[in-house]
Amino acid sequence: MITESIQLDRLTFEVRRSPRRRTLELMVDRGGALRIYAPNEVPPDELIRWISRKLVWVHEKLAAKAQVAPQTKSPEFVSGESFSYLGRGFRLKVVKEQRKALNFDGARFLLRSDSRRKAAEHFRRWYRQSGTEWLRSRVKLLAPKVGAKPADIRVRDLGFRWASCGRTGVLSFHWKLLQLPVRLVDYVIVHELTHLSHPHHDAEFWACVERAMPDWRERKEQLAESAAHYLSFGG
Ligand SMILES: [Zn+2]
Repeated sequence: MITESIQLDRLTFEVRRSPRRRTLELMVDRGGALRIYAPNEVPPDELIRWISRKLVWVHEKLAAKAQVAPQTKSPEFVSGESFSYLGRGFRLKVVKEQRKALNFDGARFLLRSDSRRKAAEHFRRWYRQSGTEWLRSRVKLLAPKVGAKPADIRVRDLGFRWASCGRTGVLSFHWKLLQLPVRLVDYVIVHELTHLSHPHHDAEFWACVERAMPDWRERKEQLAESAAHYLSFGG
């Protein structure tokens, strides 16, 4: 196997050639590294033409990966920084004047510059407030699938748990959950709704989850993968 690399569109593609290969293949690995598997005889200019046709796909893949793991370090709350809400990244703009310390206009977050020092607190509050409203409607939508009815829902800081089901039938969700893609939040909602009738993770519990959400395993796995990144946000 011979290794070479190609630079294109500010991306680096590592090329791995093999005499046994008959077709070209492009892979984006977990960490976002780009790898091309190619037969020995394909000349570099043909490889470049082939990659060019794949660029849109590559950028989409990379963007999707960035959304799954956007926060590995604490945010600095500077203009241009991206914050995740329901799986989508939104840019922050620091502004001189506005009535509220933190605003969300549907396209970006706007933070008043004199509130930067307490920005983490403002973001937490924003996730709690917008999240409560959104989760309430989402729970309403999913509850009939599970056949459960929670007494109420709350959004708060739950430490290392995404959600919990209280004895009185109140479901609590971590505000950090609101950063995740909707399909993962849905899994957490179905999981907690199921706890209303099955307190333990026994066979009946999982059978009930499966009826409401047949692809729960895949979502559970993705949730575990993203947990480390999202739970490190905001302290
Ligand atoms: Zn559980």
